[in-house]
Amino acid sequence: MTPLIEVADLRVQLDGRPILEGVHLRLFPQETVALIGPNGAGKTTLLRVLLGLVPYQSGQVRVLGKAPHQLTRADRAQIGYVPQALQFDRTMPLLVSELLRAILGDAYQKRARLIAVLEAVDAVHLLDKPVRALSGGEMQRVVIACALAQEPKLLLLDEPATGIDVGTRLHFYDLVEHLRTERQVGTLIVSHDLSIVSRYATRVVCIHHRLVCEGTPAEVLQMPLLEEVYGHAVGVYHHHEH
Ligand code: ADP
Ligand code: MG
Repeated sequence: MTPLIEVADLRVQLDGRPILEGVHLRLFPQETVALIGPNGAGKTTLLRVLLGLVPYQSGQVRVLGKAPHQLTRADRAQIGYVPQALQFDRTMPLLVSELLRAILGDAYQKRARLIAVLEAVDAVHLLDKPVRALSGGEMQRVVIACALAQEPKLLLLDEPATGIDVGTRLHFYDLVEHLRTERQVGTLIVSHDLSIVSRYATRVVCIHHRLVCEGTPAEVLQMPLLEEVYGHAVGVYHHHEH
């Protein structure tokens, strides 16, 4: 089976500072790999390298069998990406329906398709709301709906559930699990929620600029090494946004 992601000996330097060094990662269809590590470890940077948004100094990177800069528009449509912090102009005078039509393109102009897209995250009621009226959590649900809409083969999720209520969060992870088992989707998910990680991940990779450890959730979450990296007992780890 061809891996969806293949990273070997990756080195990334930003502003002259080494951010990632000697990182290896493979992700196959039907895997949900949790990428964990403390703040500033380079998790977001790694995802952005995979998307071709951050250049790398050396190493091998293949996503859907291609180097990131070779990914075509059609390839990118097969990658669902939920970025960590939403960065776009929240003041724009758009309705959610108009935003979805603009992002998803020709095949999604019909209202019924948009409703189906939002149904996946229990957010149909947001369709006719202005984007600027959405709360952070509501906006995040719309972004997740977009990532899931185009039948992706690969999901790259960067702390996707931040700001979302618990019920919707579990519904979302169940959906990811459904895509994994029914459609062989592979997912790389950055999460600090270790109960979610142990419930949904098939494998856990911990990085702190370098690869720290990797294994099944049961193996990794009990490694003493992990507490060392996080600086305290991982069971009580809480994520703080800067
Ligand atoms: P994580 O997602 O694990 O919290 P990041 O990948 O966001 O970590 O950041 C890793 C390190 O890289 C941090 O020290 C951050 O300040 C630095 N960094 C991230 N993006 C840039 C950038 N565009 N230019 C310079 N440094 C960056
Ligand atoms: Mg991050």
